[in-house]
Amino acid sequence: MPPEPHDHEVCRALFARLSELIDRELTPAQSRRFERHLRACRHCQVCAETLRRTVELCRRAGESPVSGGLARRLQAMARRLTAAGGPPTAD
Ligand SMILES: [Zn+2]
Repeated sequence: MPPEPHDHEVCRALFARLSELIDRELTPAQSRRFERHLRACRHCQVCAETLRRTVELCRRAGESPVSGGLARRLQAMARRLTAAGGPPTAD
């Protein structure tokens, strides 16, 4: 399967609804579209996994949602990944 061309519009749309995806609040069609992009886009994958794990940890601990500091760091990471010029190529 050829890799999907990287489309930052999709990345931006995904990040805007990432929490909905994780909370399974999207329609099945929307989820499928995002899951397909996640498989093709490593940068979104890493970010989504990080957020997903964070959310899971918070739930498991029975604590309030992500702390302000961590939320800000995640948002900054999302902005960097989707900034004009493309994601970093360093691994
Ligand atoms: Zn992406």
